[in-house]
Amino acid sequence: MAYKDNICTKGAPTTCASKILDGFLPCYDATIVERLSAAGAVSMGKLNMDEFAMGSTSETSWYGPVKNPWDLTRVSGGSSGGAAAAVATGEVWYAIGSDTGGSIRQPAAYCGVTGMKPTYGSVSRYGLIAYASSLDQMGPIARSAADCAAVLDLIQGRDPRDGTSLDVPAGGLLNSLTGDLTGKKIGLPVDCFGEGLDPQVRSAVLAAADVLKARGAVVEEFALPVMEYVVPTYYIIAAAEASSNLSRFDGVKYGWRAEGYEDLADLYCKTRTQGFGAEVKRRILLGTFVLSSGYYDAYYKKALQVKAVIKNAFDEAFTKYDLLLTPVAPTTAPKLGESLSDPLKMYLSDIYTVSVNLAGLPALSMPCGFDDRGMPIGAQLIGPALGDGMVLNGAHAFQ
Ligand code: GLN
Repeated sequence: MAYKDNICTKGAPTTCASKILDGFLPCYDATIVERLSAAGAVSMGKLNMDEFAMGSTSETSWYGPVKNPWDLTRVSGGSSGGAAAAVATGEVWYAIGSDTGGSIRQPAAYCGVTGMKPTYGSVSRYGLIAYASSLDQMGPIARSAADCAAVLDLIQGRDPRDGTSLDVPAGGLLNSLTGDLTGKKIGLPVDCFGEGLDPQVRSAVLAAADVLKARGAVVEEFALPVMEYVVPTYYIIAAAEASSNLSRFDGVKYGWRAEGYEDLADLYCKTRTQGFGAEVKRRILLGTFVLSSGYYDAYYKKALQVKAVIKNAFDEAFTKYDLLLTPVAPTTAPKLGESLSDPLKMYLSDIYTVSVNLAGLPALSMPCGFDDRGMPIGAQLIGPALGDGMVLNGAHAFQ
């Protein structure tokens, strides 16, 4: 197995794929690393990613882009692109990624593997270098839902070192997989199948719905109009939290420091100017803007209110349905370089994944076919909070 490089591994470089953490050797292991090592996991090393997990293509890494194993001219997805590619090529049995707005699920979809973002709080974030703490969650990328269940059985569970960690019984997911969906109701939000969705992705996901029906589920369409607001809400909250979290990287406490500074302010300025990449700087600027006095109420506070509305809409959907089925991304993997020139387009491609993080829900991405260029397509199953077992069983039934 292997870890995304934003997970602290004692004495081994942990860079977040950023120049600013070049040379940083953590003095402790993340809880997830401790738990997996104790269970006998053998780590092959650290995996490339978007710088500080900000991106959807794994091209913003200071170490260069990750290529898609199915077509080396295309992206692997992001930000856990290295993790998905390493599993797709069989270099590792599973990898641990992190997901703030889709970073486990979307690269899993682009690389034809299975990835699970667990319920917020069910996996300790201690030792995960924070991007947006209220949305971040680590989880497995593997070949199947059953493999993901086996890994989750080892990593879920309360950790006193993470204040948001939930005190819920952990383990038992693998043993509870039956593959039977008799009597289960699956909702298909029509707002996730409209404009902007590639027709080949659409038909592959709808074909997956037919398989789930054949396994006993009742599948039904319903309206989820909050989908219109999820991308702006996510990018305001994620950028705000990122600008606060990243203020600790100043050239003094961790990693790399610029040379030739005149005083402390100049040291901060030169280190950050030279140490952070363009996408990270864009998020810091956006985040400090929406938090600044005069704009706080209009943007950040408003986004938190909309977040509550989004969560309520999902809670209501789960009074009627056991699971929701959506695409993971509007298209299959784009060409390398295509998305970098148009950040807004890249942000919009996160439409189906970010709502899950805003609502704190468990969701899984599973391969459900290929487009006519031979690129993998992913379908997403979303469950209610702590319904991780239900999500895994839905995917297990499909696989
Ligand atoms: N693509 C999203 C972003 O750039 C999600 C990233 C993530 O989940 N870490 O913020």
